[in-house]
Amino acid sequence: MNEFDRLQLLAQLSSEFCELNHGPDTRRHDFPAANYLAVPIGYQQNDLQEVTARELVVPICLDCAEALVGNDWTLLYCLECASSHWIYRPLAKHRYRHHILWLKGCPDCSYEFGGLYFNDLDAISTNPEFLTHHVNLCAS
Ligand SMILES: [Zn+2]
Ligand SMILES: [Zn+2]
Repeated sequence: MNEFDRLQLLAQLSSEFCELNHGPDTRRHDFPAANYLAVPIGYQQNDLQEVTARELVVPICLDCAEALVGNDWTLLYCLECASSHWIYRPLAKHRYRHHILWLKGCPDCSYEFGGLYFNDLDAISTNPEFLTHHVNLCAS
């Protein structure tokens, strides 16, 4: 993402709302966005070169941002249909280590599970990356 796109997104932040799942009976407009989650969607051309085809940005609220950097929650995010689910790690059947698992297909959009993105693609980080963090890095 270039600096112009980045600044434009940040300028729009105040009119965005969190796009992550807040459970049933919640309204999107109750959760103003406080940040963007940035996901580079790319592929590995060869051992040396990674190509970022596009960058997905997801507006998220402060609560979600805090959950993403804490150790209690793992977010499952479907890159195909943009649906998301939170897993509360202390009560989960499986042991989750990642902050985010990017899914390629989920029960909401298909009957076929396409796999976990991070298995297919080294380019995608399983730690949350925030847009404003990028900006800070650029400024310093
Ligand atoms: Zn949220
Ligand atoms: Zn899906």
